[in-house]
Amino acid sequence: STPAAIAAGLSAGARRGLLMKGGAVLETLGKITAVAFDKTGTLTSGKPLVTDIVAGARPEAEMLALAAALETGSSHPLAVAILNRAKAEGVSILPASAARAIAGEGVEGTVGGEEVFLGSPQAAARRTLLSASQDEAVARFNAQGKTVSVVVIDGRVVGFLAIRDEARSDAAAGLARLKAMGVRSVMLTGDNQRTAEAVASGLGVEARAELLPQDKQRIVKELQAQGLVVAKVGDGINDAPALAAADIGIAMGGGADVALETADAAVLHGRVQDIPDMIVLSNGVMGNIR
Ligand code: ADP
Ligand code: MG
Repeated sequence: STPAAIAAGLSAGARRGLLMKGGAVLETLGKITAVAFDKTGTLTSGKPLVTDIVAGARPEAEMLALAAALETGSSHPLAVAILNRAKAEGVSILPASAARAIAGEGVEGTVGGEEVFLGSPQAAARRTLLSASQDEAVARFNAQGKTVSVVVIDGRVVGFLAIRDEARSDAAAGLARLKAMGVRSVMLTGDNQRTAEAVASGLGVEARAELLPQDKQRIVKELQAQGLVVAKVGDGINDAPALAAADIGIAMGGGADVALETADAAVLHGRVQDIPDMIVLSNGVMGNIR
């Protein structure tokens, strides 16, 4: 393909919100045979809502206030959901000290003199014991495709927040199109296995769950070791290592700054259909026949 055709392809992409960092990226996109998608904010809308609050040892409003305290300043989609709910309920948020995000697990810090952790059931289980009835409550929400954040205070589970993030409206169609093109898709998530299965089965995609950032990177490398040319699509929050390892890292709609730095391409409108669209664009420019 000529330099002029490549330049025209890059600008045609840019007009549709498909940004590619140069001709080599455009060329490689046409060779993609596997796409690893992040779940939250990539296959799902990334605008989750808190649907259920299960309070045990503490009143509901207090639990929400503690959770919101830890999430203040976090850009994680779940944090936004929790902060929105706290705002809607008018709870007053206490200041948290030494709050820190633990990639793929949750957030932790001191609020009002208490050590509070908020995060996935599997991360909570590494810190404390969940009772059989607590496990059951988590499983019930997970089966509905909801993500559960467990609130742990001073080493004791005090309740849960269940959060629902709808699949993007074009996710199933975009994945079906990739399949028809002979491209294998895999959903990678730090979320719980059962939640992942509930979401993935609705979308018709293979899922790998309960992954830490380094696990996502390992899976990208495993796919490459099988001879696949791999694109990784994500918002960049916690998935920079996998984005960097992929043959092509694609940042999805309004992603974190880190993603745009690490990524080779970005889709500004955040549609799953943008991924097959970029492959089609590349094939057109490079004269590939699929
Ligand atoms: P994903 O792979 O879906 O993008 P992450 O790796 O960001 O998910 O997070 C994995 C899990 O860790 C989430 O499903 C959630 O349970 C927990 N988690 C991570 N960050 C937070 C946070 N800021 N607040 C609450 N829970 C969190
Ligand atoms: Mg993520």
